[in-house]
Amino acid sequence: MSRLDCVRESLRLALPELEGMVGPEARPVFWLELWERYVESQTDYRAGSEALARKLVEAGTDTARLLEWARGQSRDHFTPGAQLTLLERVFGEQFEMSQSQAAPKNKGELSSDRVQNPHDPEATYAVKGEGKKKKEHVGYKVQVAETVTQAELGPGEPTSNFITGIVTHAAHQSDPAGAEKMEAEQAEMGLEKPPVQYVDAAYVSAEKLAGAQAEGRQLIGPALCAPHNNGGRFTAESFDIEVEQRRALCPAGKLNTQCSRLENQTTGQVSYRLEWGQDCQQCPLRAQCIGPDQSHRTLVVGEHHTVLQARRKEQKTEAFAKEMKHRNGIEGTQSELVRAHGIRRARYRGLAKVRLQNYFAAAACNVKRWINRKVWNLKQASSVAAVGTAH
Ligand code: SF4
Repeated sequence: MSRLDCVRESLRLALPELEGMVGPEARPVFWLELWERYVESQTDYRAGSEALARKLVEAGTDTARLLEWARGQSRDHFTPGAQLTLLERVFGEQFEMSQSQAAPKNKGELSSDRVQNPHDPEATYAVKGEGKKKKEHVGYKVQVAETVTQAELGPGEPTSNFITGIVTHAAHQSDPAGAEKMEAEQAEMGLEKPPVQYVDAAYVSAEKLAGAQAEGRQLIGPALCAPHNNGGRFTAESFDIEVEQRRALCPAGKLNTQCSRLENQTTGQVSYRLEWGQDCQQCPLRAQCIGPDQSHRTLVVGEHHTVLQARRKEQKTEAFAKEMKHRNGIEGTQSELVRAHGIRRARYRGLAKVRLQNYFAAAACNVKRWINRKVWNLKQASSVAAVGTAH
């Protein structure tokens, strides 16, 4: 839905709800005007963008006066219903009051968890990729975990991997946030954290790697590469850094002269700022290292940079690429859930029901796999018996 659709539809749902709660004598004087505009009429989408923008302002103004009227009603006779409460939320997300006028917020001011469609307020907007690979959707996001079998499958042998978790959450939330929900849900089911876990780059961070290491587990997945665009100058990857020792060797082979600890007051994340002093003055690599208006090089790295740097080196090896093949199974599982069980489309509205739909899909997938394994094992046993009889 466009922003205009979302506001108009929220009004269209709130007005009939109010009609059932408030008698004709108690309705506001502008009731018929709003009823005709939002319940009995539709927007003409052939109208130009300016006309549609005016319609959005008009819908905001109408919502503001309806909400103001509702706030002025005595709570002894009137309790706002679900649709009016939703309309108030949509108004707060889409408009701001300026000199008693409702003005649409700029796109950059809109929250990522705003209502996209009043028929399913929990469905949020998400975008993935850029350019031609850009994919947008309104709905939910699903995270899937399954077992990994190290043994290679024989010809025609069905998979022996089973889904151990399927988490559904708001689409605008990040993959790591979903992974945390997965961990919590699995813990609730009595499942321990896996000793070896294969993931894609979205789930790998310095903190996650260090956390897994501290718990004696392996988190196997590629780390995102350090940003290459440093104005063509050396990035952190060009330095040999030992955060634990608070020291680093620069590309010219010089040790840092200073190291300060920084702590983000909001997130509590710790990082270190390393500095090179006098050495930079006459350094032959100066132009490749620092900008013309900088006196010396500084570098800020997270407290777990060592483990991140080690992973970035490791992921370039053939052994790592081979190890990562164990993760390929989950791609097939996701495809199976989409193609055979239709999880790309929610049959019902609301997070709780979509979550239930996905639990059923995962259970069905597991049952089919279990049956396929049983059938395959029986076939194997009967072919061995047949060979035995022939002998
Ligand atoms: S400019 Fe400073 S930090 Fe950069 S390579 Fe030279 S000495 Fe090292």
